[in-house]
Amino acid sequence: MASTVRIVFFGTGGSWPSPERNVMAFGIQVDSEVLLFDCGEGTQRQIMQTNLSFMKIKKIFITHFHGDHFLGLAGLIQTMVLNNRKEPLDIFGPPRAISMLTSYFSIGYYSLSFPIRIYELSSGDSIDFGGYIISTIRTKHPVYTLAYMFKEKDIPRIDKDKADKYGLNSKVLEKLRKYGQIEFKGQKITIDMVAGGIRKGRKIVYTGDTAPFDELADFAKDADVLVHEATVEASLEEQMNRFGHSSARQAAELAKRANVRKLMLVHISPRYKSPEPIKKEAMAIFPNTVVPSDLDEFLVKVRKD
Ligand SMILES: [Zn+2]
Ligand SMILES: [Zn+2]
Repeated sequence: MASTVRIVFFGTGGSWPSPERNVMAFGIQVDSEVLLFDCGEGTQRQIMQTNLSFMKIKKIFITHFHGDHFLGLAGLIQTMVLNNRKEPLDIFGPPRAISMLTSYFSIGYYSLSFPIRIYELSSGDSIDFGGYIISTIRTKHPVYTLAYMFKEKDIPRIDKDKADKYGLNSKVLEKLRKYGQIEFKGQKITIDMVAGGIRKGRKIVYTGDTAPFDELADFAKDADVLVHEATVEASLEEQMNRFGHSSARQAAELAKRANVRKLMLVHISPRYKSPEPIKKEAMAIFPNTVVPSDLDEFLVKVRKD
């Protein structure tokens, strides 16, 4: 299990960039690794204004191929080339990602200094990355769009009294957590011998663009953080649902139904100069709501229960 899980918002606006907000992109920092979700235009410059390094991005997850979610990729990649990146970059996206991105990347004179591997995912896919799992579900949007779930694996919680009985210090315990069993002072010690319950892994769900739909509540069930699009207020929801978007009210209803811990609203329409109407509407239904600004950061803490 990672020690640090942090969410950093690079862009929180929908449709097109505005003076208030850049278009969609945020990072989940898992210790020293950075996972990037969506990459609207200008994302690289937003990243440079935080203390995360764009060179540390190993995996990028694109929800769909509307411009406000991916047009920053080529620029980011060209900057990685100019900074002499050698490490492979993995990009995950919905069906047609390979043909779509291959033609998009073929524009301009530059040669890659590192391999780019593109993977197409469809609804219901899950990938095990060792310490965490990424899963997907197709959302309700005019083009194939994936919502993503980041789920850290559960691990046994260490019972301090039991660990003390065997004289295990924190360094030895770390090894035990990693391998499940160790030899210590000539004795075989398994994780079960010192375990006291389960330390639940953190769960973060990002909806991408979507109108509300029932399965999304199951997908987001008990998440620590739900990053949900809230393009408009309820007064405009009928019209926006037709375009495959949600209102703040609908996002809050879903957060409540899914029993999430915290709701973060993004993809705010450029029509809003202030987030107040969106925030107020959602908080009336789901009080633990924030409407992050670009460059806001949130630490996702391990649950005590
Ligand atoms: Zn969008
Ligand atoms: Zn879209």
